[in-house]
Amino acid sequence: MSQNSPKNVAVIGAGPAGLVAARELQREGHIVVVFERENQLGGTWIYTPQTDSDPIGVDPNRRIVHSSLYSSLRVNLPREVMGFRDYPFVATKKPNRDPRRYPGHREVLDYLNDFASDFGLIELVRFGTEVGYVGLLENGKWKVSSRKSENDDHVVFVNEEYDAVAICNGRFTEPQIADIPGIEVWPGKQIHSHNYRVPEPFRDQVIVVIGGATSASDISREIAEVAKEVHISSRSALSGTPKKVHGYENLWLHSMIEAVGIDGGVNFHDGSNVYADIIIHCTGYKYHFPFLETNGIVTVDDNRVGPLYKHIFPPAFAPSLSFVGMPWKLIPFPRCELQSKWIAGVLSGRISLLSKEDMIADIDAFYSSLDTSCIPKRYTHNMDFQLDYEDWLAAECGSPPPEKWRKEMFFIAREKIKTQTEIYRDQWDDDDLIIQAHQDFVQFIP
Ligand code: FAD
Repeated sequence: MSQNSPKNVAVIGAGPAGLVAARELQREGHIVVVFERENQLGGTWIYTPQTDSDPIGVDPNRRIVHSSLYSSLRVNLPREVMGFRDYPFVATKKPNRDPRRYPGHREVLDYLNDFASDFGLIELVRFGTEVGYVGLLENGKWKVSSRKSENDDHVVFVNEEYDAVAICNGRFTEPQIADIPGIEVWPGKQIHSHNYRVPEPFRDQVIVVIGGATSASDISREIAEVAKEVHISSRSALSGTPKKVHGYENLWLHSMIEAVGIDGGVNFHDGSNVYADIIIHCTGYKYHFPFLETNGIVTVDDNRVGPLYKHIFPPAFAPSLSFVGMPWKLIPFPRCELQSKWIAGVLSGRISLLSKEDMIADIDAFYSSLDTSCIPKRYTHNMDFQLDYEDWLAAECGSPPPEKWRKEMFFIAREKIKTQTEIYRDQWDDDDLIIQAHQDFVQFIP
């Protein structure tokens, strides 16, 4: 690729990652087309009461719904932390908006629509257009095949060539389910949190919720309002289980499940046993790129997407193929923003990239360090709240590092999720940091 020549870039997905990628690519002078299979932008943040046709989400032929939001969902990060760095997620005076510090999901969708409209991104998006194939051609360009349903009988298939592809298809749609001994004979129902929307279907039932993250915590508490009993099974449960969760009469915390039986019994490692009607798997998601053909060069192996340099570029195809949004346990929007800046700058030749050999050596060293620390492959993209990844990206891009207040606020917020689960969205004591954030935001708010 010659230095500074604009590239034709296909961006797959118009969620937060795809939108900010489109903005950064466009800012850098590239020509951008965003493919979005839904008829609106927002990705995860488009709530729908519809669910997959298979509630547990394992049937490969099921009808798939992209979003995993439940109706009552409020964000789990303070809005000051969550928003893009130069487009603060502040409360607005527009009608029907949610000014709360931890707003409901609709407010995030409204914010993303504002973002797309203010940066002229909407006209870059081909709505209702699903990418079905991405593969490298002999001429070094990427073939992108897409399909758009004009109406029930008429589907338009298009094949095009692009200089580069940025994959922003999200990572919360393909359910990962728990491996439970005896589950094939267990008579109850199972669903994945991807398909949980409202508590009512769980009324008067005995429920086991598997998982230790925010979804498990939110969903179990919401269901406890209507269910007969709710039993959370968590890998991270400390000793002393089973124990009743403070403030609830029908919510218990248990260790992991040991086995389930034909009689409906669920046995936990802590020696306790319940007879349950439904198991809800709040057990995370799998990376999934059904459209990507790289002849086995880029693979998903035990949830490691690899090999990827800095979780973004596969060395064999860098910089023309990139992935935005792989790392987790970081702040999603600003992380995607910095990743996108880096991709855009590297594509234009303004930012230099290591040689292919050096990228491979870096990845090998990274994988070895995971092995040495006994970190399983499936945690390859778990950044474990290490914001030095963002510091590194910012330095590469010539951008200021993540703001000090944002880091502090993030760590306080993460801690409060664990220690003040019931109230963290409505009570806080970091007003000094909020003031600092707003002092910073002034430069971005017209
Ligand atoms: P997505 O938002 O999933 O967008 C991907 C887009 O790609 C979708 O629009 C999809 O339709 C499109 N797409 C996929 N495949 C194709 C294809 N083949 N062709 C065309 N288009 C395609 N983050 C926070 O910051 N704060 C929170 O409080 C928070 N809460 C969350 C709660 C839940 C239950 C979940 C599941 C996630 C939460 N997140 C939260 C993380 C959230 O996913 C990210 O904020 C963000 O949505 C990720 O953006 P994305 O663009 O990578 O993916």
